[in-house]
Amino acid sequence: MDVYRKAAKAIKDAQVLLITAGAGMGVDSGLPDFRGEKGFWKAYPLYERLGLNFYEMANPVHFERDPAFGWGFYGHRLELYRKTNPHEGFRILLRWAEELMDDFFVVTSNVDGQFQKAGYPEDKIYEIHGSIHHLQCIRPCCNEVWENKEDIPVDYETMRAKYIPKCPFCGDVARPNVLMFGDFSWVGVRTYSQGRRFEKFLACNKDKRIVVVEIGAGTAVPSIRHTSERIGKNYNAVVIRINPREYHISDPHISIPEKGLKALKLIDEELRKLC
Ligand SMILES: [Zn+2]
Repeated sequence: MDVYRKAAKAIKDAQVLLITAGAGMGVDSGLPDFRGEKGFWKAYPLYERLGLNFYEMANPVHFERDPAFGWGFYGHRLELYRKTNPHEGFRILLRWAEELMDDFFVVTSNVDGQFQKAGYPEDKIYEIHGSIHHLQCIRPCCNEVWENKEDIPVDYETMRAKYIPKCPFCGDVARPNVLMFGDFSWVGVRTYSQGRRFEKFLACNKDKRIVVVEIGAGTAVPSIRHTSERIGKNYNAVVIRINPREYHISDPHISIPEKGLKALKLIDEELRKLC
């Protein structure tokens, strides 16, 4: 059977939808996925000149040593994510969730807030690496996480922020509430409470038929893939793995070697034939 038809059937047969999404989910909205050094430097030529890769830029050390430089990278991404419109694939998934399922949840490693922007309820989203749309203290002086309502303009010649947000509790620098590499000062309270809601969702639906739709989750940061595989193994669940490169998953799960939006559209067409 054709994989798209097989995937559509798995969705039709399921009672509960779990969406697991990695960086590849944003590609069809025009967002960079920072795949490899070349991909990252194509988006940020200045960092190539400075010899800094994504792992070195996504590091809290810059906020400590030179906040304007740290905020250059995150301020740029903040603006990019604020002005990006989530692609149609987000709406297709939400329609499946609302029209075909008893319950659903989203687990994502993306910090871009695109699921919220596409209209998904805040209490159905687990952002395992935090959110760029939230701030915390750099020290941190307390466990507070607050919504980022600041404008942080960036000089694109130097990739330095022209304004540094401050912690309202101690006056020190505020940083994005994003889990970075080698990050010991990340305040996890917001993410942990999302995680507790997700575990509750799993407990409530443990006897139901679950379909996991995984989109664009690579092996470089494998936490999203592990989540899909854990649910696929321990629950009455079928995983549909959509990924143009790292698409392998063992039977009875379904592997679709394609980009997110195109695959979701093709599954949706098959689903319409079944319904
Ligand atoms: Zn503080």
